[in-house]
Amino acid sequence: MSNDTMASVMPLTFVEPQQIPHYHTDTPARDSFGRRIDYLRVSLTDRCNMRCVYCMPVNMQFMPRPELLNNDELLLVIRAAAAAGFRKIRLTGGEPTLRRDLVELVRAIKATPGIEHIAMTTNALRLRTLAQPLKGAGLDRVNISIDSLDPQKFRQMSRGGSLEEVWAGIEAAVAAGLEPIKLNAVVVRGMNDEEVVQLAALTLQHKWEFRFIEVMPLTGVAGLANEGVISSAELIARIEAAFGPLESLGHASSDPARRYRIPGAPGKLGFISSVTDPFCATCNRMRLTADGRLHLCLLRDDEVDLRAAIRNGATQEQVEQIIRHAVQIKPWGHGLPDGILPTLRGMSQLGG
Ligand code: SAM
Ligand code: SF4
Repeated sequence: MSNDTMASVMPLTFVEPQQIPHYHTDTPARDSFGRRIDYLRVSLTDRCNMRCVYCMPVNMQFMPRPELLNNDELLLVIRAAAAAGFRKIRLTGGEPTLRRDLVELVRAIKATPGIEHIAMTTNALRLRTLAQPLKGAGLDRVNISIDSLDPQKFRQMSRGGSLEEVWAGIEAAVAAGLEPIKLNAVVVRGMNDEEVVQLAALTLQHKWEFRFIEVMPLTGVAGLANEGVISSAELIARIEAAFGPLESLGHASSDPARRYRIPGAPGKLGFISSVTDPFCATCNRMRLTADGRLHLCLLRDDEVDLRAAIRNGATQEQVEQIIRHAVQIKPWGHGLPDGILPTLRGMSQLGG
């Protein structure tokens, strides 16, 4: 699909159920480019117990709690999304483990007819105690962020996080069976790029997938992103210089990571090149912000306000129609190559 066919829609704030055309409810939602959208990434809170340098500014202002969807509102959206054909949910943040009643929320989401898979992206600081109950409630697996194996550097990049707690969280996730475990590192030039070989070497000992993410220029960190971005191609070259040619495992459909293996390793490597080599053609996802907006493309500002509709009394069927409409107007892809940067929200409000 070329850039000529990109949908261009303005950021939306509110869609009255009466304003939108009626969408058939007997087939799963597809966007105007024919992409089947069945994966909802749900931000449970914009708050966090770390302040990663590439994610949020030090003086981050958080949303007042009444702005966030409460559990009933959130579960209404999940049921409506499932009716529209969404099958996979990922809980994210901010830090999702800070959400009160997380275990009960997971149980309720897992019990929603149509939802087949529920995963979570977390910094793991609270997994030591939560991993087992979350697994018991139906969580299938976790992605854990870990940018450095050096406690000092980790503390510096996360502005205060404890690497020891993260390791305890990873061990708890393994013990609970939240597998396959995926670990994520955002690589920032001059901060942790010298460590990529060491991080990749974890896959020689463990069956984990270690994923390297290019830093994206979201609100609050665009300066760092512009100077710090280091391409996946450069990372692969550095890792190959240490271990020899990587074995390509291809690209599972709609997984943004291009996957490789160090020959003979039990684990895998993944490279997420949102900036230098976007994967919009296979996009299958939308995001729900903690304040109840459907965010249509990670790196664009377009949103549809579900919270307003719900607080105006919309039924589940009406919320499903708004979700189907949001899928229909989902933009083709981001505008970074044309210098168009998102301005509304930072990554901690979108969940990655
Ligand atoms: N707090 C959880 C965590 O860190 O895993 C979940 C939320 S966090 C926003 C989700 C993912 O986004 C993490 O893997 C994080 O490393 C990544 N991330 C944050 N800021 C980013 C940026 N500017 N560019 C690329 N990835 C980013
Ligand atoms: Fe918090 Fe995750 Fe953002 Fe780090 S990346 S500040 S852990 S939300």
